[in-house]
Amino acid sequence: MKNIIIFGAPGSGKGTYSEEIVKKYGMGHISTGDVLRGEIKAGTELGKIAKGFIDNGQLIPDELMIDILAATYDKFPAGQGVIFDGFPRTIPQAEALKKMLAERNHEMGVMVELIVAEDVLMARLLNRAIEQGRADDNEVTIKKRFDVYHNQTAPLAEWFEKEGMRHTFVWAEHPSKEAMLDAIFAYLDTI
Ligand code: AMP
Repeated sequence: MKNIIIFGAPGSGKGTYSEEIVKKYGMGHISTGDVLRGEIKAGTELGKIAKGFIDNGQLIPDELMIDILAATYDKFPAGQGVIFDGFPRTIPQAEALKKMLAERNHEMGVMVELIVAEDVLMARLLNRAIEQGRADDNEVTIKKRFDVYHNQTAPLAEWFEKEGMRHTFVWAEHPSKEAMLDAIFAYLDTI
């Protein structure tokens, strides 16, 4: 399977759909958020640095994130295909991903963009706060994460467009998890 970059705002379903894609196509999964939460739980130096940024709704600095990503990617067998969930989130991260994959003679693959209206996202994240108790799923931090997404991450969609990798799926057109997945799978079956 080709590499897949799953892209969208907080709460757009990146983690949920990644799990389904992994189940169907049997590829690797890198959630940078999960990697960072694991480091926090384990009480590592990296976790201590990451916690301040995450609790505040801010992005971890690019240099740090890029090193973490490369180290995590190299744990998967070469050529298996990996789904990148939550990375890249900035243009320098996207450039670094492109360089890292080129150095390994691997393709960038495709980008799957999830578009969901902000009121739906907010409702989902507040619900996740109750179900999963994530420290950054409170209304103040969620609003900061939306700002960070609009300012630093959303412009990346154009970057992927120029790379010819962008494929967009809109919740309003497929308003259920199953309908979104059908549309995403129908596309992924063709790559
Ligand atoms: P997520 O689980 O993808 O929503 O990520 C949770 C938090 O982890 C984000 O709000 C950031 O603070 C941090 N994070 C995850 N991925 C990245 C990344 N690629 N670059 C910078 N920070 C990240």
